[in-house]
Amino acid sequence: MATAALGAAAVGAVACGTSAYDQTARAAPQAGDFPFELTDAQWRERLTAEQFNVLRNAGTERPFSSSLNDEHRGGTFSCAGCDRKLFDAATKFDSGTGWPSFYQPLAGAVGEEVDNSYGTRTEVHCANCGGHLGHVFDDGPPPTGLRYCMNGVALKFEAAQ
Ligand SMILES: [Zn+2]
Repeated sequence: MATAALGAAAVGAVACGTSAYDQTARAAPQAGDFPFELTDAQWRERLTAEQFNVLRNAGTERPFSSSLNDEHRGGTFSCAGCDRKLFDAATKFDSGTGWPSFYQPLAGAVGEEVDNSYGTRTEVHCANCGGHLGHVFDDGPPPTGLRYCMNGVALKFEAAQ
């Protein structure tokens, strides 16, 4: 249940994408940019169509479509493309945006790039495979004040033992 404070924060929050199928104008990752690389054909084999659209084409899933919005257990969120551990569940918070949101990634887990496709946003991708994860905004909660607005389809959750 959202508190009044969370509700107010949600109203001011900028959505991950301007539409359900918003495309980020990020240049496609080039060979040699990331430690873990596959060909498009190999990615299509490895990923579902939805995962491919987000991770490899920088698409945006529909808000409130991911079951990970309601995942509140302790554990770790990893990249759905390459299994790199990205976020500790302890840094997840309810942003009210309909996308899984975190205030801090694990050290060295993600890369960021300016994205001018709809105003100026900061794109976030997996540091290991370059897969697009979402965007980061500066309207998050303490202690960082950051809101990593992630596509749930780009993540895999593993509950703590
Ligand atoms: Zn990855």
